[in-house]
Amino acid sequence: MKSKKIKDDSLSEVEEEEKELEERKNKFEDDFKKILEVRTEIKAVVDTQGLSSCIEKCNNSDRKLLKFQGLVSLMLSPQTKDNITYETTQKLIEYGLTIDNILKISQENLVKLIFKVSFHNVKAKNIKALAQKLRDEFNDDAPETLEEIIKFPGIGRKIGLLYLKECCEQNSGIAVDTHIHKIANRLKWVNNTKDPNKTSIELEKIVDKKYWDKINEILVGFGQEICKSIKPLCVISCPLYKNCSYYKEVISKEKNKTKKEKSKSKGKKKEKKMKKTKSQRVRKKKIEYDSDTEEEIL
Ligand code: SF4
Repeated sequence: MKSKKIKDDSLSEVEEEEKELEERKNKFEDDFKKILEVRTEIKAVVDTQGLSSCIEKCNNSDRKLLKFQGLVSLMLSPQTKDNITYETTQKLIEYGLTIDNILKISQENLVKLIFKVSFHNVKAKNIKALAQKLRDEFNDDAPETLEEIIKFPGIGRKIGLLYLKECCEQNSGIAVDTHIHKIANRLKWVNNTKDPNKTSIELEKIVDKKYWDKINEILVGFGQEICKSIKPLCVISCPLYKNCSYYKEVISKEKNKTKKEKSKSKGKKKEKKMKKTKSQRVRKKKIEYDSDTEEEIL
């Protein structure tokens, strides 16, 4: 979608960029405050079975073990519903989620344990590789920098940042999943970013650090319950719809189109009905005429 903003000629390109960044910063701040209000009333799956809840299930008294279990739980999560990740994490913990046990179990049996998560074959392979690498190169202790952790197979920027936040008490960045990527673009906090990693970098430029620790869960829940991918609940539940570009440019236009189509088909039905009634009337008259003529003849 092309930006309709008119450029101010008196400003240099740098000033223009700074101005635009400031506008997006303010828009984020306003929107996020409203989302926070809504989220205090509307609870989502992420609140009870999200990644924080999974990490709570992990061993909190042993830091090395907590980091390993947290990483495994996070590695299960991509493309998988929160409740399934939660259930599978619990299952693995009950089985005994330690580096020793993951090295001992066959990949086939690990797949059986995690079969409910999507891409379970690849994930089982990555979990075994994680355990092996931690044993061989890190003395069973996962590293605590984004740079190092994203070198493990199956761990990207999002998982890395969530791991640092949940298991190492570090707020190193904004972890962006598909919900946050979609919301940030719909509300124009970022400019048409193509993937979640780019969105994460762009958001870090405009979001005050005081929000970094809660932004993920707040927005994921907002995406799960209100700003859904298909049929978002704009007018019904979202306080932002009057200032939401996506609502104005896509949803309301779709609504008008559907309304027009409905009234068009209603009109057609009416026309058909009228034609039918007219032909019925003509037929009735013809029958009356025929019977009258018959009587006259008789
Ligand atoms: S108005 Fe609709 S599309 Fe825009 S943020 Fe709210 S729910 Fe999402």
